[in-house]
Amino acid sequence: MKITHIEHLGIAVKSIEEALPYYGNVLGLTCYNIETVEDQKVRTAFLKVGDTKIELLEATSPESTIAKFIENKGPGVHHVAFAVADGVAGALVEAEEKGVRLIDKAPRKGAEGLTIAFLHPKSTQGVLTELCEE
Ligand code: ZN
Repeated sequence: MKITHIEHLGIAVKSIEEALPYYGNVLGLTCYNIETVEDQKVRTAFLKVGDTKIELLEATSPESTIAKFIENKGPGVHHVAFAVADGVAGALVEAEEKGVRLIDKAPRKGAEGLTIAFLHPKSTQGVLTELCEE
């Protein structure tokens, strides 16, 4: 696969409203989009940081993986998302061939209209890894 850059860093927060003043007032970053991804039971807020982004993730249901993550580990860095230039579908095939456990067997729609898929942290040195393409 051909990774071009870190597309975004996903950060689990208890509340986007409570987290945004830190990112805005202290770091001086601007939130340009808030959207709910229904099937993931999350609300996301995006902030630009140069060529990459911060994605704040808030659970919209106690069954959300973000709610479970915060319950186990507390708020903090949740995943790293890499932009794949030659497509997520091919990257998944390649990763699986190389013995990586997949969370998503096929690409799906994520926030911001991106096509995404997750690799399991058990196969990625403990870092939940998202692959995405525009
Ligand atoms: Zn993400």
